[in-house]
Parts: sequence; C-alpha cells; structure tokens
Amino acid sequence: MKPARFDYVAPNSLDEALSVLDQHGDRAKLLAGGQSLVPMLSLRIAAAQILIDINRVPGLDYLETRDGGIAIGGMTRLRSVERSPVVAEMVPMLPAALPHVAHFQIRNRGTVGGSIAHGDAAAELPAVLLALDGHVTVRSLRGGARRISAGDLYTGYLTTSLEPDEILTEIWFPALPGNAGWSFHEFAPRNGDRALAGVATTVATRGDHIADSTIALLGLGSTPLRATEAEEGLRGAGVADPIAGKVDDLIDKQVTATSDVHGSAEYRTYLARVLFRRAVVDALRKVSA
Ligand SMILES: Cc1cc2nc3c(=O)[nH]c(=O)nc-3n(C[C@H](O)[C@H](O)[C@H](O)COP(=O)(O)OP(=O)(O)OC[C@H]3O[C@@H](n4cnc5c(N)ncnc54)[C@H](O)[C@@H]3O)c2cc1C
Repeated sequence: MKPARFDYVAPNSLDEALSVLDQHGDRAKLLAGGQSLVPMLSLRIAAAQILIDINRVPGLDYLETRDGGIAIGGMTRLRSVERSPVVAEMVPMLPAALPHVAHFQIRNRGTVGGSIAHGDAAAELPAVLLALDGHVTVRSLRGGARRISAGDLYTGYLTTSLEPDEILTEIWFPALPGNAGWSFHEFAPRNGDRALAGVATTVATRGDHIADSTIALLGLGSTPLRATEAEEGLRGAGVADPIAGKVDDLIDKQVTATSDVHGSAEYRTYLARVLFRRAVVDALRKVSA
C-alpha cells in the first residue's frame, strides 16, 4: 500500500524543527529512522499532513557518560549503542537487549529516540528504560526542556506523555550499583520477530536476601509495564530460592496480555512465568559474578 499524501520538510537545526513542529502540532509526525513510522503510514494505520524529517538536525547523535549513566542523543542509531564498548561496560542490559530488535539492517537506521517515543508494548528499549528507572529529556519551543521519568512515559497503546509539539532529544540510562545484577530475556518465534513476551530485571542484594528489584515486562500488556507487585513480592526473599513456588502469584496479576494471531493470552502468561523465573535467577547470578 501507499501512504496518504503528505508534505515533507527537513530542518537543519533543532530550533527550526521545533518551530515547524510548534506550527503544525498533531498534524505533523517526526521522521527519525522511519522503521516504524513509514510502514504505519503505508498501511494507513498512521497519518500525517506533514513529515518533519529530523535526520539533518545536528547534535542529536551522541553517547556520553554522565551522572553515573549513559546519555544518548535521540537520533543515535540503535546499532551504534549496541556496538559501543562504553555502553557495554556501563549499561550492559542495552547490548543484551538490542540484538533482539528486528534485524541489523533495521537497527542501522532505527534510532533510540524513535524506539522510545514509538512506545510499542513489545519493544525492547522501553522495557530496559523502565527496568533501569531511566529518564528522557524532551524539548519544545513553548516550554524549553523538561524531563520525564520512565515510569511516567507510557500512558496507553502506542501513546506517551510527550506533547504534540515536543521532540525527544535525550535518553538517560543509569549504571547499576555494585550489589546489583540484571538480566534481559524474551521469546520471539523467530530471530528478528516482535517478542511475544519478555522480562527485563534488576536485583540488588543485601547479605543473602533480595533488597530491591525492578521488573519490566514487554509484550504482556498494552504498554511496556513495570510489574510492581512482583517486585514487592521479591523484596526480602532469600537469594537461594527467591521465587519459592510463588511464580504464578507473583507474575500472573501483572500480565494483561490479550490474544492475537501470534499467541493466546494464556500462552503469553505462561511465557511470562518462565521468563520471569529465568530472569530473576540470571540477574542474581550476575550479582556474584
Ligand atoms: C520488520 C521490522 C521488525 C521490527 N522489529 C522490532 C522489534 O523486534 N523490536 C523493536 O523494538 N522494534 C522493532 N521494529 C521497529 C524498529 O526498531 C524502529 O526502528 C523503532 O521502533 C523506531 O525507531 P525509528 O527511528 O525508526 O523511528 P520512526 O519510525 O522514524 O518513528 C517512530 C515514531 O516515533 C516518533 N519519533 C521518532 N523520533 C522521535 C523523537 N526524537 N521525538 C519524538 N518523537 C519521535 C515518530 O514521529 C513516530 O511516531 C521493527 C521494525 C521493522 C520494520
């Protein structure tokens, strides 16, 4: 299929991009890597009167260590993050999750800002951002810069708390403290397919107990999710057997998956239990590694 007719503009600066966006608001769409937007326009799932191509905007493609984490410019390509030794050292969950995002040709083009702003419930990066409690910076002509924490970002199906005149300019992922471990596990029918289910986890230990944990779910609801009840359930659990037969209790209530042609809600819930158990054990193993 072909997209409906649209106008196209390619600004050469952030100020110019913000100004055009301010003028057109929700009649405009930002074009980053185009790997989600172009198929959606072509299938007429999305529509725009004007596309604002931000590929020529300088200063949005960078990786910097800052404030105990990694700050990533909105237009940084997924593949650059995946291959960065600094990212691997500071936020290893990112290069663990990124190879699951589509195929490398798509990651060469797709951007971190695009993936985070698109907010697909089955996407890997939103779940990583949630599990690590990161944040994003957005800018508009009207309000300048504002920060949105990961927990406040995803508000509904493919919907974020970004306003129509805002551009996501930076994503910040914190490094974990020394007593913490992490893991990322997902299941997709074939390499490069969208995940049917996935779990991104961190655990921090004190002695032989879990002091804290974060659990983010992908593909298991209409948005990327934090499984807060499961996190609470793990707090204080012994590291030797943290789940102790409670896996169904801990995770089932958090899963709001629905059935579709790719898998039933029951099957996704089953996957969530398996991946949750695997993720917690793996994260704990990394604490002592
Ligand atoms: C075959 C195929 C398989 C895929 N599989 C996966 C997968 O397994 N996992 C996964 O996570 N993704 C997958 N994707 C999507 C891919 O990773 C996209 O690159 C990514 O979701 C969006 O990044 P993009 O830069 O291409 O954004 P675009 O497609 O350009 O934009 C996506 C949306 O975000 C908005 N946007 C983009 N940049 C900004 C910004 N800086 N500020 C505000 N809004 C912005 C756009 O307006 C648009 O609404 C797949 C894509 C294809 C084609």
